[in-house]
Amino acid sequence: MGIVTENLKNVEEKIQAACDRAGRDRSEVTLIAVSKTKPVDMLMEAYNDGIRIFGENKVQELTGKIDAMPQDVEWHMIGHLQRNKVKYIAGKVALIHSVDSFRLAEEINIQAKKHGVIIPILVEVNVADEESKFGVELADACQLVKECASLDGITVKGLMTIAPFVENPEDNRDVFKALKDKSVDIAAKKYDNVSMDVLSMGMTNDYEVAIEEGATMVRVGTGIFGARNYNI
Ligand SMILES: *Cc1c(COP(=O)(O)O)cnc(C)c1O
Repeated sequence: MGIVTENLKNVEEKIQAACDRAGRDRSEVTLIAVSKTKPVDMLMEAYNDGIRIFGENKVQELTGKIDAMPQDVEWHMIGHLQRNKVKYIAGKVALIHSVDSFRLAEEINIQAKKHGVIIPILVEVNVADEESKFGVELADACQLVKECASLDGITVKGLMTIAPFVENPEDNRDVFKALKDKSVDIAAKKYDNVSMDVLSMGMTNDYEVAIEEGATMVRVGTGIFGARNYNI
């Protein structure tokens, strides 16, 4: 058994166990295989194990892999996105997780119209208010969602967060709870063109806690493909 296959089996077991603990059905949680920096042959190993959703954080790498992988893969843009690069991914990605300003949302809207598509997006929230992280503050999330609702080339599907790096994943439980609470608040406002069905939270270190707190998408890289080497 290849290493990716073995890792996937392990991740799948942990997702199932977290769902069981939370009384949730496994079908409520979508696993996104975060393949940044990893070669196409490793992505193909995951593909051959049935993975069809991959997440990338850099536009150039993303478009290269779209061309190299089978057509039925669903691609998610999970990283910080510059406005001048939106044009390269419009029409090619199923979901953009990382919308953190109205200016970016407007550009996605423009490119969506050019390509004749409606682009699903998530609003990225910097729940812990870390200097080093992108995303709007929790207090500003509702306002950005409301503004995005007016753009008919995009559709807001929910919220995303990157929790702090912590030794003990329990330390992020409150972060995940806070994002879930915010999504419930926003959903109650019933904005047109907005749903709060997606809660993208949890990475290798903390996805089990995130699932217990309501994550509907977990973004797992290292846990599937192994540690990343940025020096190659
Ligand atoms: C790299 C990355 C991940 C995956 O991180 P791991 O800790 O390797 O699972 C998830 N989300 C985003 C936005 C990332 O950039």
